[in-house]
Amino acid sequence: MSAIKATGIADAFFTTRIGGISQGTYAEMNCNIYKKLDIDNGRENFRLACQALEIDPETVITNRLIYLTDIVRCVGKEDIIDIFDEPASAHADGLVTNDPDIALYMYAADCAIIFLADSEKRVIGALHAGWKGSLIPIIENTVAVMRDKYGCCSENIVAQICPSIEQCCFETGFEVAEQFEENGFSEFIYYEGEKPHIDLNGVNLKRLMNAGLKKENISKVGICTCCHSDLFHSYRRGPVDENGVHLNGMNGAFIRLKRQ
Ligand SMILES: [Zn+2]
Repeated sequence: MSAIKATGIADAFFTTRIGGISQGTYAEMNCNIYKKLDIDNGRENFRLACQALEIDPETVITNRLIYLTDIVRCVGKEDIIDIFDEPASAHADGLVTNDPDIALYMYAADCAIIFLADSEKRVIGALHAGWKGSLIPIIENTVAVMRDKYGCCSENIVAQICPSIEQCCFETGFEVAEQFEENGFSEFIYYEGEKPHIDLNGVNLKRLMNAGLKKENISKVGICTCCHSDLFHSYRRGPVDENGVHLNGMNGAFIRLKRQ
């Protein structure tokens, strides 16, 4: 996550499948902490990831990501709870903090996790945008919280789009493409094969720029999680059981401010 590191105020990390204890379709570093399947290993993997990154797991704050909200929480150490206590976990898709004593955590398999950092105000954000999240203003809302609650200027904010599903693999129905068209994102829909493909990160980039970020301050890792399912967990590529349950693991994403 070099764009965040380059700000000098924060560190950010995105896990790969390497290094955990999960087996089979979840192998190895499944960072799932809430989905029932493989949850015990997932939570142990989460602890192992924290250990490797020298993050105290008891200082990590997350959301119960629900894919459809544009809710952003401002958090600090007073918001720390047992991260594994799912019922107590707030339903939201964005987090913002200026507290160096906590780390922010997100998890995804194909959905985009986006990190934000403003080195002037020493404020960081993390948000989760699945394809449905690309149709609601979670990106704009997170930037607005950084601006309105922490005094950040959009022009100073750096954004890093983590590995997620790219246009090559995000094939979708015409009704989904229509929704993107209606929201003003026709330029990111490609009708080359039988079904439309959507460049979700193109949409996310446009939304970041709509929120006032400079294009040169936005970076994308650009590795498709679905093409590279050997390296990352992928919802779309992962196996599905006879009841339609996706048997994929989760990639974990951490960001935290450095102490001054
Ligand atoms: Zn792909």
